[in-house]
Amino acid sequence: MEGETVEVAGLKFTPYLSQSQIASRVGRVAAEIRSYYAGQELPILLCMLNGAFVFAADLLRALQMEVEIEFIRYSSYQGTASCGEVSEILGLRQPLRGKRVLVVEDIVDSGLTMARLMQELERQGAKEVRIAAMFTKPEAFRGNYTVHHVGEELPNRFVVGYGLDYNGLGRGLPELYIRTE
Ligand code: 5GP
Repeated sequence: MEGETVEVAGLKFTPYLSQSQIASRVGRVAAEIRSYYAGQELPILLCMLNGAFVFAADLLRALQMEVEIEFIRYSSYQGTASCGEVSEILGLRQPLRGKRVLVVEDIVDSGLTMARLMQELERQGAKEVRIAAMFTKPEAFRGNYTVHHVGEELPNRFVVGYGLDYNGLGRGLPELYIRTE
């Protein structure tokens, strides 16, 4: 329930962003993206599974642009700590050579996962790669690239809800929760 502490897979979490706060972030990000691509060739959206499916669904509807969306998988997380290793990208069903791509990510933490994905998209010959991330953790970020569209910058703490899980659970929480200290 909104405003209350929750327990997910044995860990306690405190409310951090409400549904309406999240909706206003998504609306702002959608407006930024619309204005960037206005009058230009539109990108293919690449939704990073699993976590970004909730953000991607909201963003796609808020965008009101005629765009295609693909779902890919690329994961580096186990439990509450990034293990620093990323595996291969799965699920891409069309060649990206010469295309503009907008990666839709739930959260950019250390940025390693996204760095590997960008390398791969460049290798595949994408013409332009931009990133929309619902959340970032600037204190943890170790990348040397720009996250172009950001919903909310978070402190360097573990969060669940709005598509993000802890050990597979908590993705369906409509608000964002932060681990209780
Ligand atoms: P990175 O490679 O940037 O360190 O990690 C990116 C991935 O780790 C994200 O796509 C997300 O799946 C996961 N992740 C990073 N921070 C959090 C967090 O606070 N909560 C959850 N549930 N997942 C996170």
